Amino acid sequence: MDAKVFGVLEGSADEPRIAYLRADATVGADVMAALPVDPVAVFRFSARCETSRCAQFDGHTCGLGRRIVEGLAPVVDALPPCQIRATCRWYAENLGAACLRCPQVVTLVPRDGSRLSRVAQIKAPSDT
Ligand code: SF4
Repeated sequence: MDAKVFGVLEGSADEPRIAYLRADATVGADVMAALPVDPVAVFRFSARCETSRCAQFDGHTCGLGRRIVEGLAPVVDALPPCQIRATCRWYAENLGAACLRCPQVVTLVPRDGSRLSRVAQIKAPSDT
């Protein structure tokens, strides 16, 4: 699997926050296998951008990263110490504006009508 853990979920259900792993920290498959919950419920994963194979890709940029910047307020006032910044598409396209909002983004986005769940949804052409 190409996916790599770079953050751990903390905070509350209403106000989730990601704690970013130190640059040299890794979470192995053995740790994930031992978890009593689905790893996507507690970790943030990075994965290679699939560009046109991903529904979030708009042909030029990541639509999810853009909607996060446009639709969510910053939750920190300094860039988190993120180990994937050098390869992060959201950062490459939106610079620090993405990072200031990123700690509230969880892998398993709830379908609860929250701002995050609305931002994460891909709008059909008829919705616009
Ligand atoms: S947006 Fe910033 S903080 Fe979030 S994963 Fe990318 S580089 Fe890390």
